[in-house]
Amino acid sequence: MQFRRVLLLIALVVSVAQLALAQTASERLEAVRKDPLRLRQFLEAMPKGGDLHNHLSGDVYAESFMQWAANDGFCIDDDKLAIVAKCEGTLVPAATALTSPLYQQMLDALSMRQFKGTMESGHDHFFATFSKFGAASRAHAADMMVEAVQRFGSENVDYLETIYAPDRGGASRLGFELTKGADFKSMRDQLLAGTSMKAVIADARKTLDDAEAAVKTQLKCGTPDAMAGCRVDVRIVDEVHRGIPREALFAELVVGFELASIDPRVVGINPVMPEDGYVSMTTFNDLMQMFAYLRPLYPNIRISTHAGELAPGLVPPEGLRFHIRDSVMIAKAERIGHGVDIARETNAPELLRTMAKRGVAVEICLTSNDVILGVRGKDHPLPMYLRNHVPVALASDDPGVSRIDLTNEFQRAVEEFGLTYAELKKLVRNSIEYSFLAGESLFVNHDYAKRACTASCDAFAEKNAKARVQLKLEKRLAEFEK
Ligand SMILES: [Zn+2]
Repeated sequence: MQFRRVLLLIALVVSVAQLALAQTASERLEAVRKDPLRLRQFLEAMPKGGDLHNHLSGDVYAESFMQWAANDGFCIDDDKLAIVAKCEGTLVPAATALTSPLYQQMLDALSMRQFKGTMESGHDHFFATFSKFGAASRAHAADMMVEAVQRFGSENVDYLETIYAPDRGGASRLGFELTKGADFKSMRDQLLAGTSMKAVIADARKTLDDAEAAVKTQLKCGTPDAMAGCRVDVRIVDEVHRGIPREALFAELVVGFELASIDPRVVGINPVMPEDGYVSMTTFNDLMQMFAYLRPLYPNIRISTHAGELAPGLVPPEGLRFHIRDSVMIAKAERIGHGVDIARETNAPELLRTMAKRGVAVEICLTSNDVILGVRGKDHPLPMYLRNHVPVALASDDPGVSRIDLTNEFQRAVEEFGLTYAELKKLVRNSIEYSFLAGESLFVNHDYAKRACTASCDAFAEKNAKARVQLKLEKRLAEFEK
């Protein structure tokens, strides 16, 4: 009897001591804030919700593109340091390049690896990678998806909204058959009347089917050996290209809206390509007007735009004044990608208030803004958005090209901007709350203290994809904070 009492007493003392020792997640973060390696471990383990801004081909590492090029019998243009599908002349077979000094050069050319910026800008090098690996990325949609979801899953990201055009060029080709200079209505009517658009959409859906199937089999989903990527929910934001001729861009938009209307995997549209390019800058308003025309016809399809991915000097000062504003006010974008030049926009305080009021979220890509625009630290508007209560989510744009991951972006948010655990947690929750997942939110009015369901959240989550992913995230956060 006496012995059992002693044991009980010991157990009691131990658990009290454990309680006293148990740190909250916030204390754990503060304890490692100045220790980069331990901070990395903390942030990697932290559930990070979703990545809302990444380009599928940009998620992939150069090593994979080189391997696929070799497997496919592709070649390397060792002048341009680019992968080419057709081997001719003095081109080097990719298989040979794997074990030659060209391999290291190619890894650098296809990414920001070891980038020094002496002969070329980060901006030019970053954007040029996409065409250099284009031949390999076009042929490997499914493999790219497998690599992306597995890597994101491995760093505790549960949701991936990836920017990708599953039509692989088919939509823009339709544009070249349209009457040049025709108005929006007649161009859309032409597209809807023909059979070519249906074929392009069917082909795009097949690409997504194949990618989905590849994830399932290659990651062994649904089996006891299921890999980390299996728990990642994926949605596609269809990319349209702002630097191509008007009719081709319009055709891409119509295909995107039509595709998203019939395929629940495609949830939104996003215009891509360098915002400072000649066509992007000179036809910016045309793109806004296209959105203004098409959005009411497809009210359920969501819009995020690359806007304000600009910096002083990159374009004339006038060019920094209206891209975010017009995207919000004319295109009615629900999210802004980057938003770096916000402080230079006309009447920025009012624009920030509008964004906060309407819940227009900003996808913040710290490394991308650093390497492409040279904007970092005190020059970055992240604190400005936070101060003005504009919803913010951190995104990777893009882990393969920049050779980073989403954890890295969280680390920058802590090290460069001093964010606390509570602030990071809010950004994590934002990444699902402001995602384009269908269905209702788990929360009322974006208030993470107020749930839309009380007793039977599981039943509610069953009916709403967004709430389902949110409920999963809340459980994971609670587990992490234990
Ligand atoms: Zn982007």
